[in-house]
Amino acid sequence: MPTYEYACASCGHQFEAVQSFSDAALTECPKCGKEIRKVYSNVGVVFKGSGFYKNDSRANAPTAKPDNPPASASKPIKD
Ligand SMILES: [Zn+2]
Repeated sequence: MPTYEYACASCGHQFEAVQSFSDAALTECPKCGKEIRKVYSNVGVVFKGSGFYKNDSRANAPTAKPDNPPASASKPIKD
């Protein structure tokens, strides 16, 4: 269930409410009864790894050793 954060402009009261998508948005401050507004923040909604893929080359590619010279450099050079 998503968590919505609300803030009251009248008394400054801020609180979080866990609501389902079908629930109506809260409109009244539980403290003073005045109008509140929904605060959009990253709390409760986190998007991870969009377009990024973490590759651990040390674990997935044991044959790729950094101390090995490239294949082209291993060829003997004759003058
Ligand atoms: Zn209030």
